[in-house]
Amino acid sequence: MKKFPVLFLLSLLNTICYAQDSLSAEVQQYVVHDRGNYLLHNLTVLDGTGSAAMTNQDILIEGEYITQIGQDLSVPDNTIVINMEGKSAMPGMIMLHEHLFYPKNVPGPNYGLDQMTYSFPKLYLAGGVTTMRTAGAIMPQVDVKLKKWIKDGRLPGPTIDATSPHMDRKGLPILEMFAFDGPEQAQDQVDFYADLGITSIKVYNMLTREDLKAIIEAAHARNMKVTGHLCSITYREAVDLGIDNIEHGFGSCPDFLENKLPDQCNPFMLESLLEVDPDSENVTSLIDHMISNNVALTTTVNVFEPYTGREVIPGGGLEALSPRAKEKVYQRWVSKQGRDSIDVARFNKLKLMDKKFHDAGGLLVAGTDPTYDGRIVAGYANMRLLELMVEMGFSIPDAIMICTLNGAKYLESENLIGTIEEGKIADIIIMNDDISKDISAIRSDKIIFKNGIGYDSQKLFKAAEGLVGIR
Ligand SMILES: [Zn+2]
Repeated sequence: MKKFPVLFLLSLLNTICYAQDSLSAEVQQYVVHDRGNYLLHNLTVLDGTGSAAMTNQDILIEGEYITQIGQDLSVPDNTIVINMEGKSAMPGMIMLHEHLFYPKNVPGPNYGLDQMTYSFPKLYLAGGVTTMRTAGAIMPQVDVKLKKWIKDGRLPGPTIDATSPHMDRKGLPILEMFAFDGPEQAQDQVDFYADLGITSIKVYNMLTREDLKAIIEAAHARNMKVTGHLCSITYREAVDLGIDNIEHGFGSCPDFLENKLPDQCNPFMLESLLEVDPDSENVTSLIDHMISNNVALTTTVNVFEPYTGREVIPGGGLEALSPRAKEKVYQRWVSKQGRDSIDVARFNKLKLMDKKFHDAGGLLVAGTDPTYDGRIVAGYANMRLLELMVEMGFSIPDAIMICTLNGAKYLESENLIGTIEEGKIADIIIMNDDISKDISAIRSDKIIFKNGIGYDSQKLFKAAEGLVGIR
């Protein structure tokens, strides 16, 4: 008889400790507004739908939800009014090519990656990302658990759509990457990842069309979408095989190669991209084919940003790096000054082509891909990408929509997130400066509301200082 109360007490403790609404001390230190009822008074709002800015707006948050928006709302009982005069609001960013790892120094011709479980989730949230797809994992079991710990309030960070490891045949000299031998093994891996709690699939450079067909079939059977950073398979072939999304805009598009062999990755992709005319029939018909088959395109145009005259860490996050990582990135940045004309040409071409996909009616989504030479840093890169959307020629409302609502549409969550509208979850970025006048207001001090809880961006950035490259 004695056992019952003890068991009951234990289960009660579990409920208290892990209920979604109770935050750990680790999370609580970044919170400026606990979940409650708030009237955010007198904001300039860009709502994420692509509509023009609205001034003098009040947003009523009740618990987890946005329940009312308008001018001079009356204040319900038990509601705290926060004066937001001079500040602006946009929805939390929904970014679809994020990672939880960062490149490390390894010897020889190899490339290595380290998991950034502790710094990156803080940095993403600090930068304004409230939902992210990881688009390729090196430690899927960690990503799945991290997703749960964030959801349970044990660690700070965005809501996560956890993607599989980069699914590929043996090829690239990256120790951390998984590999398969053929379609059957690939399908087994898809099932293994789904059982682990993975919710989307990423394919990579060396797989065959037969592999891709098998992966898509297995993934769709488990209710998961498939995206790809392609090389061996053309965009057109992948569309015809039923892929849902393609990464890196047109930056990894093998379709314009003249002598491409089927199922083979060709190293001359960059040259063919530099030569192609964005207004040619070749490009237009590929874009039309993607759109008529509902394939989304993820622009990661920030990873192609040139070096000359541009920031060492785009978005301004040099202080986030460990001393070693900082030195390595800085040396490379110095060595590229005035010597990156090919990067400039590719960047300018991609800005035109990725925008063309959106202008033709395609679902253009965005992501930052923190890999390459270590210059792309979580959170800072997301702010930079939003700025670059304007450099591409998008209006401020459209740039915001691509980084918010479009991501929600792809994740089929647009009835819950992606805009500042009544009935949606309160995922809102409050900026000290006015983003309707200058997109760089995204860099000003922010309060990031996620699920109705307000986090201090500066505290989160501060907590990750010096840690990128370490943990
Ligand atoms: Zn990537």
